[in-house]
Amino acid sequence: MVELLQDKDRIFTNLYGLQDWKLEAAQRRGAWLGTKEILEQGRDWIIDNMKASGLRGRGGAGFPTGLKWSFMPKEVTNRPHYLVVNADESEPGTCKDREMLRHDPHLLLEGCLVASFAMQAHACYIYVRGEYVQERGRLQAAIDQAYKAGLLGKNACGSGWDFDVYMHHGAGAYICGEETALLESLEGKKGQPRLKPPFPANAGLYGCPTTVNNVESIAVGPTILRRGAAWFKSFGRDNNAGTKVFCISGHVNAPCNVEEALSIPMKTLIEEYAGGVRGGWDNLKCVIPGGSSVPLLPREICDEVLMDFDALSAVKSGLGTAGMIVMDKSTDVVAAIARLSYFYKHESCGQCTPCREGTGWMWRVMERMVSGEAETSEIDMLLDVSKQVEGHTICALGDAAAWPIQGLIRHFRPEIEQRINNYRANKPVFVPPNEIAAE
Ligand code: SF4
Repeated sequence: MVELLQDKDRIFTNLYGLQDWKLEAAQRRGAWLGTKEILEQGRDWIIDNMKASGLRGRGGAGFPTGLKWSFMPKEVTNRPHYLVVNADESEPGTCKDREMLRHDPHLLLEGCLVASFAMQAHACYIYVRGEYVQERGRLQAAIDQAYKAGLLGKNACGSGWDFDVYMHHGAGAYICGEETALLESLEGKKGQPRLKPPFPANAGLYGCPTTVNNVESIAVGPTILRRGAAWFKSFGRDNNAGTKVFCISGHVNAPCNVEEALSIPMKTLIEEYAGGVRGGWDNLKCVIPGGSSVPLLPREICDEVLMDFDALSAVKSGLGTAGMIVMDKSTDVVAAIARLSYFYKHESCGQCTPCREGTGWMWRVMERMVSGEAETSEIDMLLDVSKQVEGHTICALGDAAAWPIQGLIRHFRPEIEQRINNYRANKPVFVPPNEIAAE
Protein backbone atom coordinates (compact mmCIF):
# COMPACT_ATOMS: atom_id res chain seq x y z
CA MET A 1 0.00 0.00 0.00
CA VAL A 2 1.53 3.31 -1.09
CA GLU A 3 1.32 6.17 1.37
CA LEU A 4 -0.17 9.23 -0.29
CA LEU A 5 1.04 12.77 0.30
CA GLN A 6 -0.80 14.48 3.13
CA ASP A 7 -2.36 17.92 2.72
CA LYS A 8 -0.01 19.39 5.32
CA ASP A 9 2.92 18.57 3.03
CA ARG A 10 1.50 20.20 -0.08
CA ILE A 11 3.22 23.37 -1.27
CA PHE A 12 0.42 24.46 -3.61
CA THR A 13 -2.46 24.70 -1.19
CA ASN A 14 -4.73 26.50 -3.63
CA LEU A 15 -3.97 24.50 -6.77
CA TYR A 16 -7.66 24.06 -7.55
CA GLY A 17 -8.62 27.68 -6.93
CA LEU A 18 -11.05 26.77 -4.17
CA GLN A 19 -9.77 29.66 -2.07
CA ASP A 20 -9.04 33.31 -2.72
CA TRP A 21 -5.85 33.95 -4.72
CA LYS A 22 -5.32 37.52 -3.48
CA LEU A 23 -2.50 38.70 -1.23
CA GLU A 24 -4.18 38.53 2.18
CA ALA A 25 -5.53 35.03 1.57
CA ALA A 26 -2.19 33.89 0.15
CA GLN A 27 -0.46 35.24 3.27
CA ARG A 28 -2.90 33.33 5.47
CA ARG A 29 -1.86 30.17 3.61
CA GLY A 30 1.81 30.91 4.32
CA ALA A 31 3.07 32.88 1.31
CA TRP A 32 5.37 35.82 2.09
CA LEU A 33 5.83 34.49 5.63
CA GLY A 34 9.27 35.38 6.99
CA THR A 35 10.61 36.31 3.56
CA LYS A 36 12.78 39.06 5.04
CA GLU A 37 14.29 36.56 7.50
CA ILE A 38 15.06 34.18 4.63
CA LEU A 39 16.90 36.95 2.79
CA GLU A 40 18.76 37.88 5.98
CA GLN A 41 20.33 34.43 5.99
CA GLY A 42 22.32 35.50 2.94
CA ARG A 43 22.89 34.32 -0.60
CA ASP A 44 25.15 31.37 0.18
CA TRP A 45 22.69 30.02 2.74
CA ILE A 46 19.83 30.16 0.21
CA ILE A 47 21.82 28.48 -2.56
CA ASP A 48 23.30 25.84 -0.23
CA ASN A 49 19.84 24.96 1.07
CA MET A 50 18.37 24.76 -2.42
CA LYS A 51 21.20 22.41 -3.36
CA ALA A 52 20.67 20.35 -0.20
CA SER A 53 16.94 20.03 -0.90
CA GLY A 54 17.69 18.06 -4.06
CA LEU A 55 15.21 20.10 -6.11
CA ARG A 56 15.58 19.39 -9.81
CA GLY A 57 14.12 21.76 -12.38
CA ARG A 58 10.39 21.20 -12.90
CA GLY A 59 10.20 22.45 -16.49
CA GLY A 60 11.37 19.26 -18.18
CA ALA A 61 15.15 18.98 -18.17
CA GLY A 62 15.45 18.16 -14.45
CA PHE A 63 18.70 20.09 -13.90
CA PRO A 64 19.43 20.68 -10.16
CA THR A 65 18.03 24.12 -9.35
CA GLY A 66 20.47 25.16 -6.60
CA LEU A 67 23.42 24.19 -8.78
CA LYS A 68 22.02 26.27 -11.64
CA TRP A 69 21.76 29.29 -9.36
CA SER A 70 25.35 28.78 -8.25
CA PHE A 71 26.56 29.14 -11.86
CA MET A 72 25.79 32.84 -11.83
CA PRO A 73 28.89 35.06 -11.39
CA LYS A 74 29.72 35.71 -7.74
CA GLU A 75 30.35 39.41 -8.34
CA VAL A 76 28.17 41.84 -10.29
CA THR A 77 30.25 43.81 -12.76
CA ASN A 78 28.98 46.35 -15.27
CA ARG A 79 26.47 43.77 -16.55
CA PRO A 80 23.36 43.40 -14.36
CA HIS A 81 22.07 39.94 -13.42
CA TYR A 82 18.59 38.78 -14.39
CA LEU A 83 16.16 36.09 -13.39
CA VAL A 84 13.77 35.00 -16.13
CA VAL A 85 10.81 32.80 -15.27
CA ASN A 86 9.62 30.52 -18.01
CA ALA A 87 5.81 30.54 -17.93
CA ASP A 88 5.54 29.72 -21.64
CA GLU A 89 3.93 26.40 -20.81
CA SER A 90 3.15 24.93 -24.23
CA GLU A 91 4.01 21.26 -23.94
CA PRO A 92 0.99 19.17 -24.95
CA GLY A 93 -0.46 17.40 -21.92
CA THR A 94 0.94 19.96 -19.49
CA CYS A 95 -1.21 22.45 -17.60
CA LYS A 96 0.37 22.91 -14.17
CA ASP A 97 2.02 26.34 -14.38
CA ARG A 98 -1.30 27.71 -15.60
CA GLU A 99 -2.97 26.73 -12.32
CA MET A 100 -0.14 28.24 -10.28
CA LEU A 101 -0.45 31.54 -12.14
CA ARG A 102 -4.20 31.54 -11.71
CA HIS A 103 -4.54 30.42 -8.13
CA ASP A 104 -1.22 30.81 -6.32
CA PRO A 105 0.59 33.70 -8.05
CA HIS A 106 2.03 35.03 -4.77
CA LEU A 107 4.02 31.84 -4.23
CA LEU A 108 5.69 32.53 -7.56
CA LEU A 109 6.35 36.21 -6.84
CA GLU A 110 7.88 35.43 -3.45
CA GLY A 111 10.04 32.79 -5.16
CA CYS A 112 11.16 35.37 -7.72
CA LEU A 113 12.37 37.68 -4.96
CA VAL A 114 14.22 34.96 -3.07
CA ALA A 115 15.85 33.47 -6.19
CA SER A 116 16.79 36.87 -7.59
CA PHE A 117 18.29 37.97 -4.29
CA ALA A 118 20.36 34.76 -4.19
CA MET A 119 21.66 35.49 -7.70
CA GLN A 120 22.01 39.25 -7.15
CA ALA A 121 19.40 40.14 -9.74
CA HIS A 122 17.46 43.35 -9.23
CA ALA A 123 15.03 42.53 -12.03
CA CYS A 124 12.99 39.51 -13.00
CA TYR A 125 10.97 38.90 -16.16
CA ILE A 126 8.12 36.43 -16.19
CA TYR A 127 7.46 35.27 -19.76
CA VAL A 128 3.84 34.13 -20.00
CA ARG A 129 2.53 31.97 -22.84
CA GLY A 130 0.60 33.95 -25.46
CA GLU A 131 -2.59 31.92 -25.01
CA TYR A 132 -2.64 32.52 -21.24
CA VAL A 133 -4.64 35.73 -21.37
CA GLN A 134 -6.53 35.35 -18.10
CA GLU A 135 -3.41 34.13 -16.34
CA ARG A 136 -1.55 37.21 -17.51
CA GLY A 137 -4.23 39.42 -15.98
CA ARG A 138 -4.17 37.49 -12.72
CA LEU A 139 -0.39 37.60 -12.49
CA GLN A 140 -0.25 41.31 -13.18
CA ALA A 141 -2.89 41.95 -10.52
CA ALA A 142 -0.83 39.94 -8.03
CA ILE A 143 2.30 41.91 -8.98
CA ASP A 144 0.40 45.17 -8.37
CA GLN A 145 -0.78 43.94 -4.97
CA ALA A 146 2.75 42.95 -3.97
CA TYR A 147 4.15 46.35 -5.01
CA LYS A 148 1.44 48.13 -3.05
CA ALA A 149 2.22 46.09 0.04
CA GLY A 150 5.95 46.86 -0.25
CA LEU A 151 6.83 43.23 -0.96
CA LEU A 152 8.28 44.16 -4.34
CA GLY A 153 9.96 47.35 -5.53
CA LYS A 154 12.38 49.50 -3.55
CA ASN A 155 13.54 47.83 -0.33
CA ALA A 156 11.43 44.76 -1.13
CA CYS A 157 9.98 43.22 2.06
CA GLY A 158 12.10 45.64 4.10
CA SER A 159 15.17 43.65 3.13
CA GLY A 160 17.15 46.55 1.71
CA TRP A 161 17.11 44.83 -1.70
CA ASP A 162 15.51 46.74 -4.60
CA PHE A 163 13.66 44.36 -6.84
CA ASP A 164 11.34 44.73 -9.83
CA VAL A 165 9.19 42.14 -11.57
CA TYR A 166 8.00 42.55 -15.16
CA MET A 167 5.36 40.38 -16.76
CA HIS A 168 5.92 39.77 -20.47
CA HIS A 169 3.23 38.23 -22.64
CA GLY A 170 4.48 35.97 -25.46
CA ALA A 171 2.85 35.54 -28.85
CA GLY A 172 2.06 31.84 -28.64
CA ALA A 173 4.99 29.96 -30.17
CA TYR A 174 5.98 26.60 -28.65
CA ILE A 175 9.66 27.17 -29.35
CA CYS A 176 9.74 30.21 -27.06
CA GLY A 177 9.57 27.74 -24.16
CA GLU A 178 13.17 26.85 -25.05
CA GLU A 179 15.20 29.08 -22.75
CA THR A 180 17.38 30.84 -25.32
CA ALA A 181 14.51 31.32 -27.79
CA LEU A 182 12.60 32.83 -24.89
CA LEU A 183 15.44 35.28 -24.27
CA GLU A 184 15.53 36.23 -27.97
CA SER A 185 11.77 36.81 -27.90
CA LEU A 186 12.07 38.87 -24.71
CA GLU A 187 14.63 41.03 -26.47
CA GLY A 188 12.06 41.68 -29.21
CA LYS A 189 13.56 39.36 -31.80
CA LYS A 190 12.27 36.24 -33.56
CA GLY A 191 12.00 33.40 -31.06
CA GLN A 192 14.83 31.23 -32.32
CA PRO A 193 17.11 29.22 -30.01
CA ARG A 194 20.72 30.29 -29.63
CA LEU A 195 23.74 28.05 -29.96
CA LYS A 196 25.21 27.14 -26.57
CA PRO A 197 27.81 27.97 -25.29
CA PRO A 198 27.73 30.69 -24.18
CA PHE A 199 25.18 29.61 -21.60
CA PRO A 200 22.71 32.15 -20.19
CA ALA A 201 24.51 32.26 -16.83
CA ASN A 202 27.35 33.90 -18.73
CA ALA A 203 25.58 35.70 -21.59
CA GLY A 204 21.79 35.60 -21.35
CA LEU A 205 19.26 38.41 -21.55
CA TYR A 206 20.80 41.47 -23.28
CA GLY A 207 24.13 39.63 -23.08
CA CYS A 208 24.04 39.71 -19.27
CA PRO A 209 24.24 36.85 -16.72
CA THR A 210 20.78 35.28 -16.59
CA THR A 211 19.11 32.27 -15.05
CA VAL A 212 15.98 30.88 -16.66
CA ASN A 213 13.76 28.71 -14.43
CA ASN A 214 10.34 27.16 -14.75
CA VAL A 215 7.40 28.58 -12.74
CA GLU A 216 7.16 25.56 -10.44
CA SER A 217 10.92 25.48 -9.73
CA ILE A 218 10.80 29.08 -8.55
CA ALA A 219 7.45 28.91 -6.74
CA VAL A 220 8.50 26.02 -4.47
CA GLY A 221 11.71 27.77 -3.31
CA PRO A 222 10.43 29.83 -0.35
CA THR A 223 8.45 26.92 1.13
CA ILE A 224 11.52 24.69 0.91
CA LEU A 225 13.59 27.34 2.71
CA ARG A 226 10.88 27.85 5.35
CA ARG A 227 10.33 24.17 6.07
CA GLY A 228 13.89 23.02 5.51
CA ALA A 229 15.81 21.16 2.84
CA ALA A 230 15.52 17.92 4.84
CA TRP A 231 11.72 18.14 4.80
CA PHE A 232 11.63 18.47 1.01
CA LYS A 233 14.22 15.77 0.55
CA SER A 234 12.18 13.35 2.66
CA PHE A 235 9.80 12.86 -0.31
CA GLY A 236 10.75 10.69 -3.26
CA ARG A 237 13.88 8.62 -3.76
CA ASP A 238 17.53 9.63 -3.78
CA ASN A 239 18.26 12.01 -6.65
CA ASN A 240 14.50 12.40 -7.20
CA ALA A 241 13.54 14.47 -4.21
CA GLY A 242 10.47 16.42 -3.32
CA THR A 243 6.91 16.91 -4.37
CA LYS A 244 5.79 17.65 -7.92
CA VAL A 245 2.62 18.70 -9.66
CA PHE A 246 1.50 15.99 -12.07
CA CYS A 247 -1.03 16.62 -14.85
CA ILE A 248 -3.14 13.60 -15.77
CA SER A 249 -5.16 13.81 -18.98
CA GLY A 250 -6.56 11.57 -21.68
CA HIS A 251 -8.58 8.40 -21.15
CA VAL A 252 -9.05 8.64 -17.40
CA ASN A 253 -12.31 9.11 -15.56
CA ALA A 254 -11.30 12.32 -13.79
CA PRO A 255 -8.48 14.25 -15.48
CA CYS A 256 -6.68 16.43 -12.95
CA ASN A 257 -3.57 18.13 -11.68
CA VAL A 258 -2.25 16.83 -8.40
CA GLU A 259 0.76 17.53 -6.23
CA GLU A 260 2.32 14.30 -5.03
CA ALA A 261 5.70 13.01 -3.93
CA LEU A 262 8.06 12.07 -6.74
CA SER A 263 8.62 8.32 -7.15
CA ILE A 264 4.94 7.51 -6.63
CA PRO A 265 3.93 4.52 -8.81
CA MET A 266 2.23 5.64 -12.03
CA LYS A 267 -0.63 3.21 -11.42
CA THR A 268 -1.31 4.65 -7.95
CA LEU A 269 -1.29 8.18 -9.32
CA ILE A 270 -3.83 7.36 -12.03
CA GLU A 271 -6.07 5.24 -9.85
CA GLU A 272 -6.05 7.35 -6.68
CA TYR A 273 -6.36 10.79 -8.23
CA ALA A 274 -7.65 10.54 -11.80
CA GLY A 275 -10.44 8.04 -11.18
CA GLY A 276 -8.59 5.25 -12.98
CA VAL A 277 -8.35 4.41 -16.65
CA ARG A 278 -11.60 4.51 -18.62
CA GLY A 279 -12.87 0.91 -18.60
CA GLY A 280 -10.41 -0.15 -15.88
CA TRP A 281 -6.64 -0.63 -15.69
CA ASP A 282 -6.77 -3.65 -18.02
CA ASN A 283 -8.13 -1.34 -20.71
CA LEU A 284 -4.90 0.72 -20.65
CA LYS A 285 -2.88 0.73 -23.85
CA CYS A 286 -0.06 3.19 -23.10
CA VAL A 287 0.90 6.40 -21.32
CA ILE A 288 3.09 9.28 -22.42
CA PRO A 289 4.48 10.14 -18.98
CA GLY A 290 6.10 13.55 -19.33
CA GLY A 291 4.46 15.76 -21.90
CA SER A 292 4.34 14.86 -25.59
CA SER A 293 8.13 15.04 -26.06
CA VAL A 294 8.98 11.81 -24.29
CA PRO A 295 8.54 8.24 -25.57
CA LEU A 296 5.30 6.47 -24.65
CA LEU A 297 5.24 3.45 -22.34
CA PRO A 298 3.08 0.38 -22.94
CA ARG A 299 0.85 -1.01 -20.25
CA GLU A 300 3.32 -3.73 -19.06
CA ILE A 301 5.77 -1.01 -18.03
CA CYS A 302 3.05 1.27 -16.63
CA ASP A 303 2.06 -1.53 -14.21
CA GLU A 304 5.20 -1.04 -12.15
CA VAL A 305 7.03 2.13 -13.16
CA LEU A 306 7.65 4.92 -10.64
CA MET A 307 7.08 8.54 -11.61
CA ASP A 308 10.50 10.08 -11.23
CA PHE A 309 13.48 11.14 -13.33
CA ASP A 310 15.60 8.01 -12.91
CA ALA A 311 12.87 5.37 -13.06
CA LEU A 312 11.44 6.77 -16.29
CA SER A 313 14.83 7.20 -17.91
CA ALA A 314 15.62 3.56 -17.02
CA VAL A 315 12.67 2.50 -19.19
CA LYS A 316 13.84 4.79 -22.02
CA SER A 317 11.32 7.57 -21.41
CA GLY A 318 11.45 10.64 -19.18
CA LEU A 319 9.64 12.61 -16.48
CA GLY A 320 9.71 15.77 -18.61
CA THR A 321 7.03 18.11 -17.34
CA ALA A 322 5.12 15.23 -15.66
CA GLY A 323 2.21 15.86 -18.03
CA MET A 324 0.79 12.35 -18.39
CA ILE A 325 -1.31 11.50 -21.44
CA VAL A 326 -3.23 8.28 -20.83
CA MET A 327 -4.48 6.25 -23.81
CA ASP A 328 -6.84 3.31 -23.53
CA LYS A 329 -7.20 0.41 -25.97
CA SER A 330 -9.55 2.29 -28.27
CA THR A 331 -6.64 4.60 -29.23
CA ASP A 332 -5.20 4.51 -32.71
CA VAL A 333 -1.70 4.98 -31.32
CA VAL A 334 -0.05 5.31 -34.75
CA ALA A 335 -2.39 8.18 -35.63
CA ALA A 336 -1.84 9.73 -32.19
CA ILE A 337 1.94 9.83 -32.64
CA ALA A 338 1.54 11.06 -36.24
CA ARG A 339 -0.45 13.99 -34.82
CA LEU A 340 2.43 14.81 -32.51
CA SER A 341 4.81 14.61 -35.48
CA TYR A 342 2.69 17.21 -37.22
CA PHE A 343 2.85 19.40 -34.13
CA TYR A 344 6.65 19.34 -34.03
CA LYS A 345 6.91 19.93 -37.76
CA HIS A 346 4.63 22.94 -37.32
CA GLU A 347 6.56 24.32 -34.35
CA SER A 348 10.09 23.87 -35.72
CA CYS A 349 11.70 27.30 -36.01
CA GLY A 350 13.44 26.13 -39.19
CA GLN A 351 16.87 27.25 -38.13
CA CYS A 352 18.74 23.96 -38.42
CA THR A 353 18.51 21.47 -41.27
CA PRO A 354 17.98 18.15 -39.42
CA CYS A 355 15.00 19.62 -37.58
CA ARG A 356 13.53 21.72 -40.41
CA GLU A 357 13.75 18.92 -42.98
CA GLY A 358 13.60 15.96 -40.60
CA THR A 359 10.40 16.89 -38.78
CA GLY A 360 8.55 17.32 -42.09
CA TRP A 361 10.00 14.10 -43.48
CA MET A 362 9.10 12.11 -40.36
CA TRP A 363 5.58 13.51 -40.32
CA ARG A 364 4.99 12.61 -43.99
CA VAL A 365 6.18 9.03 -43.44
CA MET A 366 4.09 8.79 -40.27
CA GLU A 367 1.03 9.83 -42.30
CA ARG A 368 1.73 6.98 -44.71
CA MET A 369 2.09 4.61 -41.76
CA VAL A 370 -1.33 5.76 -40.55
CA SER A 371 -2.97 5.07 -43.90
CA GLY A 372 -1.03 1.81 -44.27
CA GLU A 373 0.46 2.92 -47.58
CA ALA A 374 4.07 2.75 -46.36
CA GLU A 375 6.45 -0.14 -47.03
CA THR A 376 7.39 -2.35 -44.07
CA SER A 377 11.06 -1.55 -44.75
CA GLU A 378 10.30 2.13 -44.13
CA ILE A 379 9.79 1.46 -40.43
CA ASP A 380 13.52 0.93 -39.97
CA MET A 381 14.25 3.85 -42.27
CA LEU A 382 12.03 6.07 -40.13
CA LEU A 383 13.81 4.90 -37.01
CA ASP A 384 17.15 5.60 -38.64
CA VAL A 385 16.14 9.12 -39.68
CA SER A 386 14.78 9.85 -36.19
CA LYS A 387 18.24 8.95 -34.82
CA GLN A 388 19.87 11.30 -37.29
CA VAL A 389 17.67 14.13 -36.06
CA GLU A 390 18.11 13.28 -32.37
CA GLY A 391 21.11 15.02 -30.84
CA HIS A 392 22.04 16.85 -34.05
CA THR A 393 20.13 20.07 -33.63
CA ILE A 394 20.59 23.41 -31.89
CA CYS A 395 17.83 22.83 -29.37
CA ALA A 396 15.86 19.94 -27.93
CA LEU A 397 12.93 20.25 -30.34
CA GLY A 398 14.69 17.83 -32.66
CA ASP A 399 14.84 15.24 -29.87
CA ALA A 400 11.25 16.01 -28.93
CA ALA A 401 10.15 15.21 -32.49
CA ALA A 402 12.23 12.03 -32.68
CA TRP A 403 11.46 10.41 -29.32
CA PRO A 404 7.69 9.82 -29.66
CA ILE A 405 8.34 8.04 -32.97
CA GLN A 406 11.14 5.96 -31.47
CA GLY A 407 8.84 4.98 -28.56
CA LEU A 408 6.09 3.99 -31.00
CA ILE A 409 8.39 1.76 -33.05
CA ARG A 410 9.99 0.26 -29.93
CA HIS A 411 6.70 -0.80 -28.40
CA PHE A 412 4.12 -0.94 -31.18
CA ARG A 413 5.99 -2.09 -34.30
CA PRO A 414 3.58 -5.04 -34.85
CA GLU A 415 0.69 -2.59 -34.92
CA ILE A 416 2.34 -0.56 -37.70
CA GLU A 417 3.14 -3.72 -39.66
CA GLN A 418 -0.42 -4.94 -39.23
CA ARG A 419 -1.90 -1.82 -40.82
CA ILE A 420 0.48 -2.05 -43.76
CA ASN A 421 -0.60 -5.68 -44.25
CA ASN A 422 -4.28 -4.74 -43.84
CA TYR A 423 -3.96 -2.03 -46.45
CA ARG A 424 -2.46 -4.48 -48.92
CA ALA A 425 -5.23 -6.97 -48.20
CA ASN A 426 -7.87 -4.28 -48.74
CA LYS A 427 -9.03 -4.51 -45.11
CA PRO A 428 -9.68 -1.56 -42.76
CA VAL A 429 -6.24 -0.50 -41.51
CA PHE A 430 -7.27 0.04 -37.90
CA VAL A 431 -10.17 -1.49 -36.03
CA PRO A 432 -10.56 -0.54 -32.33
CA PRO A 433 -10.73 -3.62 -30.02
CA ASN A 434 -14.40 -3.20 -29.05
CA GLU A 435 -15.36 -3.37 -32.71
CA ILE A 436 -13.32 -6.55 -33.11
CA ALA A 437 -15.25 -8.12 -30.25
CA ALA A 438 -18.56 -7.13 -31.89
CA GLU A 439 -17.69 -8.74 -35.22
FE1 SF4 B 1 14.83 25.51 -34.50
FE2 SF4 B 1 14.35 22.89 -34.60
FE3 SF4 B 1 16.81 23.77 -34.67
FE4 SF4 B 1 15.43 23.97 -32.40
S1 SF4 B 1 16.06 22.08 -33.37
S2 SF4 B 1 16.73 25.52 -33.31
S3 SF4 B 1 13.38 24.36 -33.26
S4 SF4 B 1 15.21 24.17 -36.22
